[in-house]
Amino acid sequence: MVQLSDRVQSVTGSPTVKLIQIKSQLQAQGKMILDFGAGEPDFPTPENIKEAGIAAIQKNFTKYTTTSGISELKQAIQRAYQHEQGLTPSEKQIVVSPGSKYSLFLLLQAVINPGDEVIIPRPYWVSYPEMVKFCGGRAVYADHLQPGALFELTAASYMSQYKAKTKAVIINSPSNPTGKIMNREELRQTIDFFSKKNVLTIIDDCYRKIIYTDTDYPSPMDLVPEARDMVAVVSSLSKTFAMTGWRIGYAIVPETLAAAMTKIQEHSTSNPCSISQKAAVEALSSDQSAVQAMVNEYRRRRDYFAQRIDEIGHITYVIPDGAFYFFADFSYDIAKKNFKDDSQLAMDILEKLNIILVPGSAFGAPNYLRISYATAMKDITMGLHKIETYLRQVD
Ligand code: GLU
Repeated sequence: MVQLSDRVQSVTGSPTVKLIQIKSQLQAQGKMILDFGAGEPDFPTPENIKEAGIAAIQKNFTKYTTTSGISELKQAIQRAYQHEQGLTPSEKQIVVSPGSKYSLFLLLQAVINPGDEVIIPRPYWVSYPEMVKFCGGRAVYADHLQPGALFELTAASYMSQYKAKTKAVIINSPSNPTGKIMNREELRQTIDFFSKKNVLTIIDDCYRKIIYTDTDYPSPMDLVPEARDMVAVVSSLSKTFAMTGWRIGYAIVPETLAAAMTKIQEHSTSNPCSISQKAAVEALSSDQSAVQAMVNEYRRRRDYFAQRIDEIGHITYVIPDGAFYFFADFSYDIAKKNFKDDSQLAMDILEKLNIILVPGSAFGAPNYLRISYATAMKDITMGLHKIETYLRQVD
């Protein structure tokens, strides 16, 4: 029998990715599923981006590319950062990968030694602790579940977890699953504190273009100029441009780290998909009105969700400032239905209503459920009606 490595046995599979498979299986059985599960825009990829992909195929741009991404795409990333944040990373700082999930994976592989600690937020995106473990590191948690400061991404929550073994901290802003944003001063303090301890601050900003407030989104690389060598950003085109399947993400990191990540990518994927890279150039370089239209629609859905959750009652939530998730506390309903936990509630809702939700435990937050509103308004209306009727039933 094959003996699996200790490393792979130390990690569990992704609950969000598993839900994508469950949805396909149920749909193949002819079931009509309402999907509030994995975070994936319901919009199609905008036409001009699809056309750029088709043109790439027709022009035979279908071979290997430079490992860390074509220059044309790196320049498009540079222009986007210059336009949005007023700074231009060098091409040598940019590594394009098949999705920002892989960017983060490469980054952690390049910096974590066995026994190193990485401070991650709790609630966390499901893959953070598993990636850290896979690298032989240990995840410790900046706690954002404190009553009174629920979901607040504070510098203090990270700084309080610092130890000599801390190698890196991960900040996810806007956060998946809470939608909260770390404000400029908290981010500045975090980078300042950790850079002085020689600890890398990693900012996962893959929802940075999906923001509903006037909050100015700080440029992490520029906040503490003397700490530039200790800041890394991972980002994605998946959510912003509804391009999940194209698999394009990138990291902007210090040049030595970029070279190390590129070395790992050389031996693993060779390069990100050539066709997707051309589509990504178009996404970043063209008129951004399609993005704005999607964000406006997410905002409309968020507001509707909040109104309906208030009407249902007993569900506690914090209004998201960005991303496209409600992360809501269902303790009342779990107790009322005599369920063991949030997983049992999510499973019962799936079995009885054909509605997919993600249990909060997957994000390190028992009693919560994550509800994605990257779902068509008609499904949201129908889904919330079904959930309301279900929660009002006394079994
Ligand atoms: N990041 C999305 C989510 O949290 C997509 C699935 C995944 O990669 O985890 O649902």
